[in-house]
Amino acid sequence: MNDMSRSKPAAATLRRPRELADAGLIPAADIAALNEVAARYAVAITPPVAALIDSADPRDPIAAQFVPDVAELSTTPDERADPIGDAVHVVTPGLIHRYPDRVLLKLVSSCAVYCRFCFRRETVGQGDSLSPSDLAAALAYVRDHGEVSEVIVSGGDPLIASPRRLRDLVVSLADVPHVEVVRFHTRVPVVAPERITTDLVAALKADGVATWVAIHANHPRELTDDARAALARLADAGVPLVSQTVLLRGVNDDAKTLADLMRAFVRARVKPYYLHHADLAPGTARFRTTIAEGQALMKALRGRVSGLAQPTYVLDIPGGHGKVPIGPDYLGDDVVEDPNGGSHPYPTA
Ligand SMILES: *Cc1c(COP(=O)(O)O)cnc(C)c1O
Ligand code: SF4
Repeated sequence: MNDMSRSKPAAATLRRPRELADAGLIPAADIAALNEVAARYAVAITPPVAALIDSADPRDPIAAQFVPDVAELSTTPDERADPIGDAVHVVTPGLIHRYPDRVLLKLVSSCAVYCRFCFRRETVGQGDSLSPSDLAAALAYVRDHGEVSEVIVSGGDPLIASPRRLRDLVVSLADVPHVEVVRFHTRVPVVAPERITTDLVAALKADGVATWVAIHANHPRELTDDARAALARLADAGVPLVSQTVLLRGVNDDAKTLADLMRAFVRARVKPYYLHHADLAPGTARFRTTIAEGQALMKALRGRVSGLAQPTYVLDIPGGHGKVPIGPDYLGDDVVEDPNGGSHPYPTA
C-alpha cells in the first residue's frame, strides 16, 4: 500500500461522520453538519481509500472525492435528481434500454465507496438489491429482445455482489443466444482490491459470452500497487479492461494529472475509454468544469501522450438522450489543427 504512514490505517469502512472524525478525515466540529449530509447521501470510505488520503492537505484529490461536504446540501437550478434520464428508458425494474443493441442492468444499488459527485446519488446507497423476481423479469426482457447483444451490469457497483450471484447472472446471460457481450462497470478493483479474488474473476466469465470490465478511477494515486494487482488478476484471466473517468474540478482538471492517470491505466492494461463531463447531479456544482475547459484538457492530452492513452470526452445529455462526444474538434473550414495547435489547409468538403 502506498503512503500508509500518512493517515491512520482504518480497520473497517468508514460510514458515519463520527468515524470520519475519529480517523482524522474531518474536524470534530463538522460532525453535526455532516450528519445532515450523510442522512441525505450515503457515505462510505474503505480502508484502502482512507489510507490514500493525505489529511494534512486541505485540497487532497482523494479526500475531495469521498469525504462529504456541506456544499452537497446546496443545489443549483440546473441540477436534477436523475441527471442522465435513466427513468425515461426503464423497461423492467432495474433494467434500462436506451440504445437499440444494449441494455443496462442495475444489479445492486450499493457501492463499496460513495463518490460525492455520483450521477446516481439520489438512488444509490439505499441498500436495495434487485429482487429475484425483478431479476427474472429483466432476464426475460433480454431473452425476448433479439436486438440486445450487450448487457451492461452496473448499479451501484455490481462487483460488491458475491461471486455466486455474479456467476449465476453471467451464466444466465451466456445462455441467451443473442447476448454476445457482458460488460461490468465497477470501482471495486481500485477502492476494494482485495474483493477481486480469483473466484470472483472466474465468476465473471462463461462460455458463449465475452466479458469486459470498465474500471472507474479519477486520479493516478488511486492506482496503487494493490489496485494494479487486482487489475492484473482480471487482465491475466483474459478480461479486456477499459476505463471511465469523471472530469472533476480540483481532482483531475489539469493536463499533468489527466496524462498521468491515462498513462497509469495503459500501464495497468486498461484502455482509456470515456472521460465524462461531470453530470448535473444535485449538490455537485463544486466539481463541474466548463466544457471549454474539458476540451482544452483533451487537446493537451492529444499533444502529449500516446494514442493508447486517449479517452473520448463525452456528455450524457440530460433527459435520457444519450452520450455524445463533445470534442475538441480539429477540423475547420478547409483547415485542420495539428496536435501542437498549428493550422494547416486541407480540403474538408
Ligand atoms: C452509458 C450507458 C450505456 C453505455 O453506453 P456506451 O456508450 O456503450 O458505453 C448504456 N445504457 C445506458 C442507459 C447508459 O447510461
Ligand atoms: S462507484 Fe459509481 S455508482 Fe457508486 S457512488 Fe461512485 S460514481 Fe456512484
